[in-house]
Amino acid sequence: MSAKTSVWLAFLCALGCLIHDADLRSVQQKASQCGYQSCHATKPNMLNVHLVAHTHDDVGWLKTVDQYYYGSETRIQKAGVQYIIDSVVEALLRDPEKRFIYVESAFFFKWWKEQTTKVQDAVKMLVEQGRLEFIGGAWSMNDEATTHYQSVIDQFSWGLRLLNDTFGECGRPRVGWQIDPFGHSREMASMFAQMGFDGMFFGRLDYQDKDERLMTKNAEMIWHGSANLGEESDLFSGALYNNYQAPDGFCFDILCSDAPIIDGKHSPDNNVKERVDTFLEYVTKMSTQFRTPNVILTMGEDFHYQNADMWYKNLDKLIKYANERQANGSNINLLYSTPSCYLKSLHDAGITWPTKSDDFFPYASDPHAYWTGYFTSRPTLKRYERDGNHFLQVCKQLSALAPNKSGEFGPHLTFMRETLGIMQHHDAITGTEKEKVALDYAKRMSVAFRACGATTRNVLNQLTVKSKENVKDKMAKYVFDFKTCPLLNITACPVSEVNDRFALTLYNPLGHTVNEYVRIPVPDPSYKIIDNKGVTLETQAVPIPQALIDIKHRNSTAKYELVFLATNIPPLGYRTYYIERQESTESSKMPKALPKRTSSVFQIGNSHIKLGFDTNGFLYDVTADGLTRLVSQEFLFYEGAVGNNAEFLNRSSGAYIFRPNENKIHFATDQVEIEVYKGDLVHEVHQKFNDWISQVVRVYNKNSFAEFEWLVGPIPIDDGIGKEVITRFNSDIESEGIFRTDSNGREMIKRKLNHRDTWSVRINEEVAGNYYPITTKIDLEDDTARMAILTDRAQGGSSLKDGSLELMVHRRLLKDDAFGVGEALNETEFGDGLIARGKHHLFFGKSTDREGVSLKGIERLTQLEKLLPPWKFFSNMEAYSADEWQTSFTNSFTGISLVLPKPVHLLTLEPWHENQLLVRFEHIMENGEDASYSQPVQFNVKNVLSAFDIEGIRETTLDGNAWLDESRRLQFVPDPEQAAFNTYATFSQPAKSVHLLSAEKPLLGVKYAEEALPAGQLGAQSNRIKREMDSDQVNQAEGRSSKSTEGAYNSFKADSGNQEYIIELSPMEIRTFIVYLAVA
Ligand SMILES: [Zn+2]
Repeated sequence: MSAKTSVWLAFLCALGCLIHDADLRSVQQKASQCGYQSCHATKPNMLNVHLVAHTHDDVGWLKTVDQYYYGSETRIQKAGVQYIIDSVVEALLRDPEKRFIYVESAFFFKWWKEQTTKVQDAVKMLVEQGRLEFIGGAWSMNDEATTHYQSVIDQFSWGLRLLNDTFGECGRPRVGWQIDPFGHSREMASMFAQMGFDGMFFGRLDYQDKDERLMTKNAEMIWHGSANLGEESDLFSGALYNNYQAPDGFCFDILCSDAPIIDGKHSPDNNVKERVDTFLEYVTKMSTQFRTPNVILTMGEDFHYQNADMWYKNLDKLIKYANERQANGSNINLLYSTPSCYLKSLHDAGITWPTKSDDFFPYASDPHAYWTGYFTSRPTLKRYERDGNHFLQVCKQLSALAPNKSGEFGPHLTFMRETLGIMQHHDAITGTEKEKVALDYAKRMSVAFRACGATTRNVLNQLTVKSKENVKDKMAKYVFDFKTCPLLNITACPVSEVNDRFALTLYNPLGHTVNEYVRIPVPDPSYKIIDNKGVTLETQAVPIPQALIDIKHRNSTAKYELVFLATNIPPLGYRTYYIERQESTESSKMPKALPKRTSSVFQIGNSHIKLGFDTNGFLYDVTADGLTRLVSQEFLFYEGAVGNNAEFLNRSSGAYIFRPNENKIHFATDQVEIEVYKGDLVHEVHQKFNDWISQVVRVYNKNSFAEFEWLVGPIPIDDGIGKEVITRFNSDIESEGIFRTDSNGREMIKRKLNHRDTWSVRINEEVAGNYYPITTKIDLEDDTARMAILTDRAQGGSSLKDGSLELMVHRRLLKDDAFGVGEALNETEFGDGLIARGKHHLFFGKSTDREGVSLKGIERLTQLEKLLPPWKFFSNMEAYSADEWQTSFTNSFTGISLVLPKPVHLLTLEPWHENQLLVRFEHIMENGEDASYSQPVQFNVKNVLSAFDIEGIRETTLDGNAWLDESRRLQFVPDPEQAAFNTYATFSQPAKSVHLLSAEKPLLGVKYAEEALPAGQLGAQSNRIKREMDSDQVNQAEGRSSKSTEGAYNSFKADSGNQEYIIELSPMEIRTFIVYLAVA
């Protein structure tokens, strides 16, 4: 036994013995009294100083998640989370007065699982008495700029669920704690509100904004989280005074060097008077900038409390000596508190608060440090995360739909949930971690893919192989592989390259039937594709661009992509295609290339949209909706600023910071090499801009938008200059400095060049200071035309000139920006600079008066289909002929029985507790985006989920862990005279939409017919939906499997018996349900 281990054991014993006594004593003394009632009392007529003992534990940054947890690699950072929780628990058990908050569930539950029952019981007691309080509670403290709302909701649901399962009501966080993320999104506020949080505190906002808010006592406010949802999305939000650090000189951690409080009566070092004086001066000054006689002080920092006693001992003394002065007339009162106790004090002050309707982007910490680089940093990790979310949803659904559940499904799914939870961390998806840590995240993701891949293979085999009668290899565990090809983004896939006969199964995770243009990497242009009914489909082979084939580490024999249109892929279901190589005799299948470097202009496209190119190979104009407007597209790069970071002006561009050197920008080229391919399914222009930037521009023959698939890297640095590469779309749209960007993939927020809604901004970095996070979409318009671009991952973007939209796709830099990561953002792979590939989708057309669905409506629907397209599973088919395949297996399946109305997204379907599903429905349109789709919709949940034997259903808060009808939030009152901050009316109070089943009414037992409805409106609405469903049902019937039972497709009209399952969604509304299944 090593010395290390024995020390560890001794420590455990000490903890165990201590718990034994404290446990019995305290449990006997107090019953459960968590929540606001466990707060220490404040004193009236005094300034109450809420001391919050906390630690900020990054779920990976300079070290990996495990290195932080176990405390290894101390040379990088002395940080070990296991010691923190050990030490804090011990200190809390010794003294019931003390408080501590813990935030990151990823770490807490790793620790929890290692504890004995005795320790667990003691911790439960601490939680029940409010001495240990969970705040935030998600798997990680997620970033707010680059995360997608689906992933944020998922990682909160999982963290809060484990807290709920373990501690019940007392484990439920009341307050959000986003102290370190680099700017704050409005959608995050909305989600917190919908999850039932009473408020949220954060650390980072623009330094000018912060100064002004403190000066005008506006640092604490009511944030309107949504322009569509009204008051239910309002969240009380407070900016912390000193980020999340302790006041200067009062950092008592083992990682700090401030003097302890020395109170030896005769000690020559006694510093009590000086220390208390300084502290009281600090809080007195601070209190002048806040509205109530309460201030909150964050007593802790990154990985503090590894030795909790150092902090607590000094806090004890600070409290004691400061409060002793009350006897001599001091009116300052220090107390151990928590963010929720502080919030309760603000609430109980009974005053009114300012409001806010925009967001806290971009974040600048000084005149030359705009934290807008991380919007793009590590572009491939950002995309990998999005793939991960996509496959997580597939894995959840198939786990729920499996006819026979296997014991390993749960652990696989949990592993992937937790991995995606870690990925949302503000130093993971942001790209602000060290390179080695980024690789660790990617490795975790690949393991999670493998785990869930085992589940999906199992379930798809169950659904496909109903009988073993015609199976040739009866000994095989699985008949088919259902493999995922992770390198499809560089058109590589072993199954389709090696096999002459293979199957492609397209699994559609949406609640709608979809059509999808599919691309498969193949070595040869001649293949035959038949669908599940034996129909031979039209194909087109397109050569893979040379730039892609030239990628050194691309190990693939594929020279072509086989394109076909897969139609009517059933909702929450699949359709399988049999693909067979043909003799290459049909010359007609050979792709036709137009000569390179055409000297004349040319066009690609279809009847919906046409793209014109000029003689230099650049996009020149776009024709759509009867409009032809100048639209060009080009690649450019900024030079990354380089400095020693010693003063603001010498700031380098880096992983966090975007700072172009004197805003210098360079064109990638003035002439593009091109090849043009026009077939019946797709037109493509292959563009080569230079040795490291190329692109495919394509229009599929039925789409009304164009696809730009860019390939950038390795970014050259031989010239000693870091480069930040953008794609820019220029148009003649007169946007007058106005553009809009999405908030975490949901609502759009209006932006104006060189402007902030709530203060008069002084921007010292004209480019970087106008960059915003683009999670999915950026757009602009004038009275006649609009242009929108969808992204496939988070990127930074802006509109620096009227009519122009730019997106940063990739960056490679040579200097650190001095915000802690300690490395230049210089990503390499296989010894070269990182290559990134991705897609932009360009929408162009009339901004108003359009026939049919509005362009905004089409953009929303496409946004969803691009987020969660059918997942591609490949299987070897060498053993089966097409006929055998068609007659022996179930090659089409759907898991739901009623296609959802178009604007409704089945956001979540996953196994939850035993015999329960967690289900979310979301209205994906905003008010006014489309005349017909932006209306409230109704449908019957039971019909949608009739594949399941439903016993009951109950609505929860957004996170799925509290009953909505029991959820109560603290109410805060806005200032009576609202300051007219909102010059662009981004927030307008919507007319309260009609809620059939509001929070006050649990879903079950409500009689739809008894609700008094405004005549006409809703009735007409439901007719419209019903008609749509009927037509969809017809389309979809062929995809139906034996699993859907007894005329489910016709049951819509027979709804009368199930009216309690009819729900309504208004624009942007998400409703979450626990569905109880009958025990089989
Ligand atoms: Zn952090």
